[in-house]
Amino acid sequence: MKSSKVVPFQNKGHVSQSLLQRLLDKGKPCGLEAITPICTKDIIVADWVQLKCRYGCNRYNTTWCCPPATPGTDEVRKILAEYSSALLLEVRQRYPEFYLNNSRKRIKQVRGWKGTVSLERLLFLEGFYKVFSLVGECCALCKECTYPENCRFPQEKRPSVESFSIDVIGTLQHLGKTPQVAENKNDSFNYYSIILLE
Ligand code: SF4
Repeated sequence: MKSSKVVPFQNKGHVSQSLLQRLLDKGKPCGLEAITPICTKDIIVADWVQLKCRYGCNRYNTTWCCPPATPGTDEVRKILAEYSSALLLEVRQRYPEFYLNNSRKRIKQVRGWKGTVSLERLLFLEGFYKVFSLVGECCALCKECTYPENCRFPQEKRPSVESFSIDVIGTLQHLGKTPQVAENKNDSFNYYSIILLE
C-alpha cells in the first residue's frame, strides 16, 4: 500500500503545512491517504449528477444525506460561491462486500464518516469557522436512516459529495488526478470527501 502523503499547495490556500499533516495523521486510521488543497472554482457542479441519484441508486429519498433531502443544484452553486477554498480528501478502501448491506461494510462507512466530520471539527477549532464537510459515501451511523423522521445524530448529519451535484470524476480529472475505481469486487478504490473552508 502507498504511504500517506500531503499534496503540496495548489493555490494560495490558508491551511498551513503543519495543520495539513495533523489532519492527515488524524485521518490515517480511517484510510485517509492524501489531502489536496483546492479552489472551489475547480469543483465541477452539474445538473446531470442528480439523475444518477434519482435513477439507479436505492438511497434516493431514503436518507438525510441524499437527494431530495439535500440542497438542489442551484442552491449548491450559490453555497459554493460563498467558499473560495476546500480540501479534497482521498480515502483508500476495499469493500468486497460493496453491494451487500452488512455490518463489516457499515463499520467502514461509519469510520470514514466520523473521520471526516472529526477533521471538520479540528479545522473549526483552528479558526475555520465556516468549515463544512461533504462526505464521500453515504451516512450509515444508523442501521436504517430515520428519514423523513428526525435525524438521530443531527450534529453529524452532512450531505454526501454526490448529493451536492458534484461531478466527482470530472473534478478529479480537472485537477489532474486519476480516479481510482474498482473494476472487480476485490479491487481497492478511492472515495473522496470535500471539506469546504472559506
Ligand atoms: S445519523 Fe442516522 S438518521 Fe441521521 S442521516 Fe445518518 S443514518 Fe440518517
